[in-house]
Amino acid sequence: MNKLSLATIWLDGCSGCHMSLLDIDERIIQLTEKFDILYSPLIDVKEFPEKVDVTLVEGAISSDEDVEKIEMIRRNTNTLIAFGDCAVTANIPSMRNRFSLEQVLTRGYIETTPNNKVIPDEQIPKLLDKAYPVYHFVDVDIFLQGCPPSADLIFYTLTEIAEGRTPELSERARFG
Ligand code: SF4
Repeated sequence: MNKLSLATIWLDGCSGCHMSLLDIDERIIQLTEKFDILYSPLIDVKEFPEKVDVTLVEGAISSDEDVEKIEMIRRNTNTLIAFGDCAVTANIPSMRNRFSLEQVLTRGYIETTPNNKVIPDEQIPKLLDKAYPVYHFVDVDIFLQGCPPSADLIFYTLTEIAEGRTPELSERARFG
């Protein structure tokens, strides 16, 4: 059987979803029989590949850099999975959404900083007015809920895709 290509990326998330991916433990060997991992924070590759069969996207979209990345990923991905609650709903990053961007930046860089009280305006990505779920910017093929999704659920989802089936998540996945 031909292997599929797999990418994973971490945008505005805590890395917990990637930690859960690692929690599949020795079953990663089974996954590598079905997938070539072309890009991920877990491997040392700098450029996102031109064409990927499946991409797991962890995290919300919170900066102009996140927008550029998710649009590029969408162009280069066949099956895009919103990986975890932050990607599905914006979840934890969206806790800032009830405040204005100015309030958030002032809180982070002025009020809670003992020294060098400056809001940076260059060299770091610009925050969007709010944190957004992935679907706000691009089409999502599969929503994989959980904070994080369990290792078993990640393994099930990827295995089903590798077997050419659509994972049945409505009874398996849940928020939180
Ligand atoms: S869904 Fe939960 S575990 Fe995953 S990035 Fe967000 S906060 Fe972290």
